[in-house]
Amino acid sequence: MYLYMKRKRYFLAESEIPTRWYNVLADMPVKPMPMLDPVSGVPVTVDTLSTLFCRECSSQELNQTDRWIEIPEEVREKYAYYRSTPLVRAYGLEEALGTPARIYFKNESVSPIGSHKLNSALAQAYYCRQEGVTNITTETGAGQWGAALSYAAKVFGLECAVYQVKISYEQKPYRRSVMHVFGSLVTPSPSMSTRAGKDILTRTPNHQGSLGTAISEAVELARMTPRCRYTLGSVMNHVTLHQTVIGLEAEKQMEMTGDYPDVVIGCFGGGSNFGGISFPFLRHVFAGERNTRFIAAEPASCPKLTKGKFAYDYGDEAGYTPLLPMFTLGHDFQPSNIHAGGLRYHGAGTLVSQLLKDGYIEAMDIDQVETFEAGCLFARTEGIIPAPESCHAIAAAVREARKCKEEGTPKVILFNLSGHGLMDMSAYDQFLAGNVVNHGI
Ligand SMILES: *Cc1c(COP(=O)(O)O)cnc(C)c1O
Repeated sequence: MYLYMKRKRYFLAESEIPTRWYNVLADMPVKPMPMLDPVSGVPVTVDTLSTLFCRECSSQELNQTDRWIEIPEEVREKYAYYRSTPLVRAYGLEEALGTPARIYFKNESVSPIGSHKLNSALAQAYYCRQEGVTNITTETGAGQWGAALSYAAKVFGLECAVYQVKISYEQKPYRRSVMHVFGSLVTPSPSMSTRAGKDILTRTPNHQGSLGTAISEAVELARMTPRCRYTLGSVMNHVTLHQTVIGLEAEKQMEMTGDYPDVVIGCFGGGSNFGGISFPFLRHVFAGERNTRFIAAEPASCPKLTKGKFAYDYGDEAGYTPLLPMFTLGHDFQPSNIHAGGLRYHGAGTLVSQLLKDGYIEAMDIDQVETFEAGCLFARTEGIIPAPESCHAIAAAVREARKCKEEGTPKVILFNLSGHGLMDMSAYDQFLAGNVVNHGI
């Protein structure tokens, strides 16, 4: 195995960077069922949502009519700091697999904090500042979202408080350091600083924390603090909306290659990077112009899309968030302690859930060992160490490329490299030492 140096990268000129996000809700043939208020059980409105999220994000969340939503100029300026991100033809990976498939990846790992999360963090922090919000709060798992939000809070002059899943706080100390460098207050969750945290710790002493517990605590803090709003790094429609900048760029970059993807792949936590790369291509399927396949790659240990049920469920452990119609393993599901912390979430966003139900997208669950094997193959052939989350997308792409080899079909595969793994090296150490195992459910 070797680093293959014939690597081709496609960039867009600054004037070609998208100026609008794509709102898939406007084009979906079947709209998702409404989100329900957790207390009253009635459908949420912009007014009720905006007691939690900032007003603009609340309105984007429920917008089913505007296909295109303008990216504010100040956000575009901050995007231009690292966008466009490269689209890369993965010649090395193709060669190593001996596949006739042509494999491309969109490299979101080049953002200043190393993942796609910044695309939404910048937008959310911007809108909060515009609306006179001074403090923002959130939860984070592996720390990618917390790091992105901390950076964005600094950019727009906001105070930021992050609840980090306790197990990740302890296992991934460097992301915590990144949040500290950008000036955030970071608290391991569950903590004794909120009512929700105390309740969880009383019921389950030594609780290791989950995204669900951290969301409960962050939501409570936002509700209790004046001029404070909650932000979320995945799951919600407005977050996925902001991430469509990935797919819109990729669409233009694919044009430069002369190829068009037959298969588009993203790893799946709550759906934002998967939706971000997929939805702009999906709009051509809605229009009857293409029949592209879309594959969401999730961990076998947290398989809400392949083994969950479609139901109304809370986004968090304590039941503070709206009830969402989604594929879920149950809001009290406790996922195994896999290294892909960003994929340890019990539910799928409502957009992806509805699209899966209606047969527009597919899901694939993959065991942890296979993802690290694919990640190491990718690192050795493409020279980038992928985040453990992104390894799921790579593993799905490898499966598809091998199928192309068996069938002799030269398909075009596009996947999203959601982040780099340079802060996850202890996970790679464990894999190389043979200590990474599979977890079913
Ligand atoms: C958070 C994260 C994910 C999962 O979140 P989605 O909203 O499903 O995209 C995937 N990859 C990386 C690198 C992440 O940080």
